[in-house]
Amino acid sequence: MNGKPILWIIIPCYNEEAVLPITAPQFLKKILDLSAAGLISSRSRVCFVNDGSRDRTWELICQFAKQDEHFIGISQSRNRGHQNAVLAGLMEAKDKCDVTISIDCDGQDDINAMDEMVRKYLDGAEVVYGVRSRRDTDTFFKRFTAEGFYHLMNLLGADIVFNHADYRLISSRVLESFADYHEVNIFLRGMVPLVGFPSATVAYERHERLAGESHYPLSKMLSLAFDGITSLSNKPIRLITGIGMLFSLVSFIGVVWAVVLAFMGSTVAGWASTICIVCLVGGIQLVCLGVIGEYIGKIYMETKARPRYIISERTWAPYERKYHG
Ligand code: UDP
Ligand code: MG
Repeated sequence: MNGKPILWIIIPCYNEEAVLPITAPQFLKKILDLSAAGLISSRSRVCFVNDGSRDRTWELICQFAKQDEHFIGISQSRNRGHQNAVLAGLMEAKDKCDVTISIDCDGQDDINAMDEMVRKYLDGAEVVYGVRSRRDTDTFFKRFTAEGFYHLMNLLGADIVFNHADYRLISSRVLESFADYHEVNIFLRGMVPLVGFPSATVAYERHERLAGESHYPLSKMLSLAFDGITSLSNKPIRLITGIGMLFSLVSFIGVVWAVVLAFMGSTVAGWASTICIVCLVGGIQLVCLGVIGEYIGKIYMETKARPRYIISERTWAPYERKYHG
């Protein structure tokens, strides 16, 4: 390797005016410390990705960029969600640096784990996953649902790293290959392992948010989990086929049984059993249709192949209107 690697820390921000003034100096200090320790180049950057915030987040980012050259930012033309914001940052960074670390801007993930990540990168790992060692600060409910989610994902065949969220180091070499994954439904923590290359993990403790509020209520968590499963695995469709076959078999036996009873002349008004079967089968069919519909919906979005992010501004190249005449 010639010289020291240029690191870009990619930080998605959505309505984070309360927490940015606290965490931005911490990120800057981390870059300066790492470069003073001789691990990374002094041309490393802290890159904020404004995800269409409605508050003063972008103004703050522009201010930081004016104050210190290590701070830079890009802004998305509208809110597209956390995954797309991280992707925008990574794709922006891939040709301009050697290695990236993505992290949330709220101080929940321990930035001191970055030292270890960079060391593992220098030792040859191309992807380093940050893995939570404890979930003490999460509520029982969040911990239970989150861990259940990882187990379910693995059961369904998606290769994801247990207790790893989106705090990870990725080298530009991996990002170069990752850019060839053109899908619109993105679930980064499931997609990065698919790219391959040597990887490592670093354990860290997760803290409370330093300020502001979480943007991930239960409904968004469920939708992320559902997206994760349906983007990465076809097993639910197989499962449905299996259930369908099982029930066809059971109904076939039921039909034979009913015919035999009828011939024996012992049929009674079978209202209850009829209703039960109708309801059961109807219910299963609806669930199956729903799941299949979900996949068709995904195909629909993929065939449209809309852009996954649109960068409207950069701190180093602000948009200027062209006036004619
Ligand atoms: N975020 C984003 N776009 C969104 C929602 C969230 O860029 O639409 C960012 C947010 O600013 C933060 C990170 O994603 O840096 C994680 O969000 P949050 O802390 O609200 O989620 P939690 O940690 O509670 O799961
Ligand atoms: Mg958070």
